[in-house]
Amino acid sequence: MDIGVIGLGGMGAAMAANLLKAGHRVTVWNRSPEPVAKLTALGAIAAASPAEAFRGDATVTMLADDQALRDVILKTVALEGASADLVHVVSATISVALAQELEQRHQDCGLGYVAAPVLGRPDVAEQGQLNVLVAGEDGVVAKVQPLLDVIGKRTWRVGDAPHQANVAKLQVNFMIAAAIETMAEAFIVAEKSGIKPSFMYELITETLFASPAYKTYGQFIVDQQFEPAKFKLKLGLKDIRLALAAGEAVDAPAPLAALLRDNFIDAMAHGGADLDWAGLASVARRRAGL
Ligand code: NAP
Repeated sequence: MDIGVIGLGGMGAAMAANLLKAGHRVTVWNRSPEPVAKLTALGAIAAASPAEAFRGDATVTMLADDQALRDVILKTVALEGASADLVHVVSATISVALAQELEQRHQDCGLGYVAAPVLGRPDVAEQGQLNVLVAGEDGVVAKVQPLLDVIGKRTWRVGDAPHQANVAKLQVNFMIAAAIETMAEAFIVAEKSGIKPSFMYELITETLFASPAYKTYGQFIVDQQFEPAKFKLKLGLKDIRLALAAGEAVDAPAPLAALLRDNFIDAMAHGGADLDWAGLASVARRRAGL
């Protein structure tokens, strides 16, 4: 396939590299030049503008947030000049409201649009082992399935309306943040009572909470290892805000998400924006005087 990739951060660069390895023709665009140079060294073609990365069979965008997507896609002529049968695969974790706006915008431009947010951090993306949550019309999803098969180990078909994939993704991230907060609080009470956090970690991950989220983030909390960030805390705050907005849009209160949002803001206020989002645990630690 002839594929454009826009947004070469930790996730997008890994996805683009795998598409190249799988033999696709890949055209890349990024705001800052360094990641473009790394990808062209692997065989990618550099686009001079976002619009130039919308001239093939499909374009994957993996930009940071709603604002980035607006700046790069909606405020430019990227969609207007796109190839007639192109499918735009939006893999960033964006708001449900923007996903709905994009549905309409692509329909107006006669372009295919699927939401394909992913589960997995940059190391998982590098291995092509992401879980891809996809939503969109069957025929449109089918066109980009070969691409999704390269970036992920499994595609989860969420529904026909693209924004449904964003709802599912945001709720998963809310649950990860809740797991980080829960472990942080529990481990601190244990520690202040003379029980090692490493003991608590082993106890929960080998019994009732033997799951990837608890195992991965619990280890970061035990080690107090929040740098380098694989998923930045500021992006975690973005996702909790978006999860809250998704709940509000359907009249579903989310008091736990509101509490997490405040704790993320606390972490940001104490210089944590660029820590890994497991650094949320430092808020409970500071409050407990540790
Ligand atoms: P990242 O490393 O911070 O990369 C962000 C990308 O967005 C970069 O290419 C950056 O360009 C670009 N960008 C940001 N603001 C922009 C703007 N205003 N205009 C143009 N480009 C802009 O983030 P990431 O970890 O790859 O995450 C990308 C998306 O994937 C996010 O929506 C995130 O929530 C989601 N996600 C991340 C993970 C993870 O574990 N990291 C997992 C699943 C989903 P520059 O290079 O010029 O800064």
